[in-house]
Amino acid sequence: MKKPPAAQDIVRSFIIAVDGPSGSGKTTTARLVAERLGLRHIDTGAMYRAVTVAALERGVDVGDGARLGELADELEIGFGTGADGSDTVHVGARDVTAAIRAPGATAAVSAVSAHPAVRAALVRRQRELAGAGGVILEGRDIGSVVLPWADVKVYVDASVDVRAERRQAEMAAAGDVRSVDEVARDLERRDSLDASREASPLLRPIGAWRVDTSHLTIDEQVARVVALANEEAGARAVALAASGRAQKKCFKWRAITGVVGTMYQVVFGMRVRRIYRGEPAQNYIFASNHLAYADPPAVSSRLFREVHFVAKASLFKIPVLGPIIRWVNAFPIKRNVFDREAMATSLRILAANRNLLIFPEGARVTGGRLGEPRTGVGYLAIQSGVPVVPVYVEGTNRLRDCLFRRARFQVIHGRPIRIPAPLAAEYRAQDDRTAYRRHADMVMAAIQALRDTRR
Ligand code: C5P
Repeated sequence: MKKPPAAQDIVRSFIIAVDGPSGSGKTTTARLVAERLGLRHIDTGAMYRAVTVAALERGVDVGDGARLGELADELEIGFGTGADGSDTVHVGARDVTAAIRAPGATAAVSAVSAHPAVRAALVRRQRELAGAGGVILEGRDIGSVVLPWADVKVYVDASVDVRAERRQAEMAAAGDVRSVDEVARDLERRDSLDASREASPLLRPIGAWRVDTSHLTIDEQVARVVALANEEAGARAVALAASGRAQKKCFKWRAITGVVGTMYQVVFGMRVRRIYRGEPAQNYIFASNHLAYADPPAVSSRLFREVHFVAKASLFKIPVLGPIIRWVNAFPIKRNVFDREAMATSLRILAANRNLLIFPEGARVTGGRLGEPRTGVGYLAIQSGVPVVPVYVEGTNRLRDCLFRRARFQVIHGRPIRIPAPLAAEYRAQDDRTAYRRHADMVMAAIQALRDTRR
């Protein structure tokens, strides 16, 4: 058997998300953590700034979301290292490291970054840059929207006064001398713009550790993030080494999924892509978009593990169908209400180390878009502490077209979204409904990401 990877190798493949307001110390922290752990550092604020500089130079109105979105799409933003070892930012061949920090760019960047079209273009690019891992990305929405599946999430914060002092010193060193008060006012203005905007407001992501740097030295804040990453990698190494306790499938399950999966693949051309294989002994909540009744068998047929799933209560009353779906691990859920009994059954299944398949939208949603999630998936993830694997399915509502290969039938399994146990315990202790809701939104963002990057 192959030896499971050691913690120090696991950490090098991590995706670390660092979010926080301006002047919180996140750039310094992210850069030094990247150095310590051998990761690539990507400053996503620099990307929004680069688009802003290009817009100002080309005379594009900062209110013209459509044109700014095109610009964000076209620009080739890259990162490099200067002669003195410092980080540099490029647009094409041009070094824009200094230009993006100019006062004009700083004043306009919040307006530019509030446009959904700009965000969509840059988020796509940021996900490409993060790829399979080995990176630390810093910004405002990394843990919540860009990379909900980040292995470690950190929210770096500090009091406004401390942040203003730091920024003032930084600006003074660059020859731009202002009072701390003026800088504080500017920070507060940008914070409130970033926190109140409709698209991806600045918030502490669900599952993110808060690191308050007001009274920490740089060494201390770096050490704290490095320790969080090492702890997580250690836990992952233990989970991988436990593969001897891999989940077993019973004969019934193997037989059914074997037949159904083969039929879908051979007859309907189903393709299954797994971005992450999962730890053998770990159970998961699989959360999929929902198009048709064919989704549960399609999603579960090639999982290599047994799942339980909810189905609307009325189906269990139908002769023949009812007993059959019960036999293949379905249990009833009432729709349009928060069904406590179904939630309790789900939690019992998860507590018994078994897997659950759920459809966060709560009903079938077709027409080439995803629906709004119900809070159930967030509630279950936080209550059980079990990681959520986002799944994107397409083609199940067009089986006839799939039969003639006129439509694509594919299932994509993403990387799991985890909540560190102490943070899940905090949300549970407060029965934090906002956390359930925001977790559910994050799962939906991850399913949307699979959709956006599908081939
Ligand atoms: O981090 P920095 O101050 O360079 O970010 C500049 C601006 O870019 C922020 O004030 C914010 O409006 C925007 N930004 C964002 N999402 C990110 C990173 C930055 O909206 N992920």
